[in-house]
Amino acid sequence: MSTPEKLYEGKAKIIYPTDDPEILLAYFKDDATAFNAQKRGTIQGKGEINNAISSHLFQELEAKGIPTHYIDSPTPNEMRVKRVKIVPIEVIVRNIAAGSLSKQTGIPVGTIIEPTLVEFCYKNDELGDPLLTRERLFLMKLATPEQLEQITQLSLQINQILSEFFNECGITLVDFKLEFGITSEGKLVLADEISPDTCRLWDQSETDPNRRVLDKDRFRRDLGNIESAYQQVLKRVLEHTSNPSE
Ligand code: UDP
Repeated sequence: MSTPEKLYEGKAKIIYPTDDPEILLAYFKDDATAFNAQKRGTIQGKGEINNAISSHLFQELEAKGIPTHYIDSPTPNEMRVKRVKIVPIEVIVRNIAAGSLSKQTGIPVGTIIEPTLVEFCYKNDELGDPLLTRERLFLMKLATPEQLEQITQLSLQINQILSEFFNECGITLVDFKLEFGITSEGKLVLADEISPDTCRLWDQSETDPNRRVLDKDRFRRDLGNIESAYQQVLKRVLEHTSNPSE
């Protein structure tokens, strides 16, 4: 295909317009960044792997009634998505303490979080995606109370579906980040991606805290074998067939 002018380039994806104004094309890159892009690198094959994992999970979620921006995946690196206006909030869902939660609160890594914690960060690279209070979120008019309630409920439902899915793959879903968008018809849908870049995933067959890591923490913490960890997630996700009657 002849490549049109890109609409937007982010850290992990490039967004292109298509002939249909309601449809965009997301190209998944091999580029990896961490710590607000202070650490940069390339993970060989990451674009294809993350597109394949995300596409599979979006279809899984759609089948269980979660509205998403996913349309299809025409090539290994590309996903066709509905055009949405992204809500500038990163929703973080936590089942087990790790990352910034442990750093900021002292709760030891690995502590089970009960009930599941849903947190909101301001999607703004210049400000370093700061953690928001609900009051600040409403002050900044990032979402209405109704939208935030809908986002929270959808995030908890997504967590249930994905936690169960990954558990059946022998993987623990520790935490993850979601983004939502609003379609031209005003409908709130899940957007962006769900991949080892945006989730913490621990291999249940490993007890060693470094060996069990199957996600971007291998890159963040220089643990090595990043490509094989991402491949392992893809293999298990593709092998998993869910029961449509569930
Ligand atoms: N996360 C993400 N993008 C971000 C920040 C976080 O995808 O800009 C994901 C991260 O991979 C993890 C979860 O959200 O699965 C929680 O991340 P945390 O707040 O612990 O931040 P971190 O310490 O990983 O930067």
